[in-house]
Amino acid sequence: LMALSAVSACTDDDGGTGSSSGGKARGGGAGKVGVILPDTTTSQRWGTDDPKLLKAAFDEAGVPVDIQNAEGDKAQFQRIADSMIAGGVRVLMIVNLDSATGKVVLDKARAADIKTIDYDRLTLNGAADYYVSFDNEAVGVLQGNGLVQCLKDKDYPTPLVADLNGSPTDNNATLFKQGYDSVLQPLYDSGEYLKGPDQSVTDWDNDEAGVVFGEMWAQTGKKINGVVAANDGLGNAAISVLKKDGMNGKVPVTGQDATVQGLQNILAGDQCMTVYKPIKQEADAAAALAIKLFRGEQAKAGDQVKDPESGGYVPAVLLKPLPIFKKDVGSVIADGFVERKAVCAGRF
Ligand code: BGC
Repeated sequence: LMALSAVSACTDDDGGTGSSSGGKARGGGAGKVGVILPDTTTSQRWGTDDPKLLKAAFDEAGVPVDIQNAEGDKAQFQRIADSMIAGGVRVLMIVNLDSATGKVVLDKARAADIKTIDYDRLTLNGAADYYVSFDNEAVGVLQGNGLVQCLKDKDYPTPLVADLNGSPTDNNATLFKQGYDSVLQPLYDSGEYLKGPDQSVTDWDNDEAGVVFGEMWAQTGKKINGVVAANDGLGNAAISVLKKDGMNGKVPVTGQDATVQGLQNILAGDQCMTVYKPIKQEADAAAALAIKLFRGEQAKAGDQVKDPESGGYVPAVLLKPLPIFKKDVGSVIADGFVERKAVCAGRF
């Protein structure tokens, strides 16, 4: 795993070039690996980072891959899956839009003897052959600890904390919440913190997040002192509401994904922290499994997760997330995940 070193974000001059893809010729023969990503609006990653890094990993191995994005449309997700299955993919990797529609796709693939990988999100009841993700409860613990850390620098005697949760149909959102609740509940129980509004955002919709947080802010008489936002997009929605009252920076907000926007909000002092999930590790791990399956070789995952609905176990690779505060932004750039000129645009 990468070690985070202290690199300042917008002054030093090492790092920040990003990785280039291998671009080798595609191997011949029938079949491809199919990848279906969920949308391009709930996080920078799905439209930018994951497709780029997955493609680079498959190109490097000379394995043909077809990466498509369902643009948040469940019917479109099914159409892409149907055409990939009819087209003879040998391995299908999906990031579901919800477990029910994800399961339909996994069932069809299985019926056609296609190996399946749940990428990032576990499809409940889906019984995919493999699951590749981060330790998502650990993500939530980092968010909870991050908020506690940022509230220490503020002078709120008994901070009122609001939760802006991810999509209720995303198993990851459930795990993130389990993680941050495990940090915050003891503080509510001891009376150190006050529990404020706690709501989920349908399909991680950033616009809806703004509406939901606007209501929370108004209903509490603008008394919220800290916000657990489940990712950078939801965090930015909360920050936009706080800005209207000049309360940005005074009310710490968490996030996730180390997006360009999230990192900019951190540098501006408007966001307390984010969680960096080195997506290259996730893409490489998933591609390594898919390439083995594509070639008909044995594939091994070191871990397993229990599907809470079926009770069954899915072989898994679970990677380690990292907390990012202002001092750590430079290390995300140095890791090649985001470009310095994008993060620092307009700052100097
Ligand atoms: C992913 C996050 C992402 C969110 C919204 C989750 O399943 O783990 O990285 O921010 O979906 O797209």
